[in-house]
Amino acid sequence: MEAQAAAHSPHVVLLYYRYVRIEDPDAFARDHRAFCASLGLRGRIIVAEEGINGTVAGAPDATGSYRETLAKDPRFAGMPFKISRGTADTFPGLSIKVRPEIVTLGAALPFDPEIDPAAHLSPFEWKRLAETDPDAVIFDVRNDYESAVGRFRGAITPQIKNFRDLPAVLSDYGHLKDRKILMYCTGGIRCEKASSLFKRQGFREVYQLDGGIMNYEKEICDRDDLWEGDCFVFDNRVVLPMATARGKAPAGRCAHSGLPTSHYVNCIHNPCNRLFLVAESIVEDSPDHRLCPECLRKGLTSETADNKSRSLAPAMENPPAANSTTR
Ligand SMILES: [Zn+2]
Repeated sequence: MEAQAAAHSPHVVLLYYRYVRIEDPDAFARDHRAFCASLGLRGRIIVAEEGINGTVAGAPDATGSYRETLAKDPRFAGMPFKISRGTADTFPGLSIKVRPEIVTLGAALPFDPEIDPAAHLSPFEWKRLAETDPDAVIFDVRNDYESAVGRFRGAITPQIKNFRDLPAVLSDYGHLKDRKILMYCTGGIRCEKASSLFKRQGFREVYQLDGGIMNYEKEICDRDDLWEGDCFVFDNRVVLPMATARGKAPAGRCAHSGLPTSHYVNCIHNPCNRLFLVAESIVEDSPDHRLCPECLRKGLTSETADNKSRSLAPAMENPPAANSTTR
């Protein structure tokens, strides 16, 4: 009972990144793991020579200490933290990994965060341009299963399953090279690299939403005609309701019925495991509706689907594999 109560006690979730040189990522990760563990934090942090990318959750005093300590390190001084609410269940544990990139684009980009990023626009500037400039095109650089549940009105949403697939589909958007590209992602980190990629591919005017959707939500903070739906997040919460969409119907559509929904499931056929939106009433109709439309078309049923050996560890850039994704 006590564990149950602790699991649902309010936690603060911090989302942050910084491109900054980290000389010895392995040593940094080792020390950082001990530091996070001492605060009882859970979450996922990626460390690379190019910087840090993290989401951590903990009790308010623990996340407060975490922020204060990082702010004292000159490498992270002034680093913005996007704050949302979670519980002790938001993350299954603490994972700190060293990778070649803090967010994997994989394109052979000589990316230099000091030189490359496009102009950052504050949420208000971004909104003003989006709503008033006929030359502006809103471009969502997130994955298709993320934009499915919520997005800016009229945004281009590439059908990619992974950020590293973005360079391959960029040629589809060559006709937009002379337009003003208003680019956004969840917290801003992907735009830093994507905007650099776009500029190198000849897109003339590229702007990124400073701090991403999370910052837009915080700054605009009220019902707004530009944002539609919820915000997908890479943890057990799966979706965050947005104040900017308060009182509106979900923007997501059930893959089987087309009904409005924000309810995700993973396809129960394990080799597929695709995350997709499905209305709860439709899942109740038939267990087969826990199969994605593609697997259903192949003739699989809940009886014949392979649901053994499912991985339960969600990865930073992959859809959470958790089966229960109710908000
Ligand atoms: Zn499937």
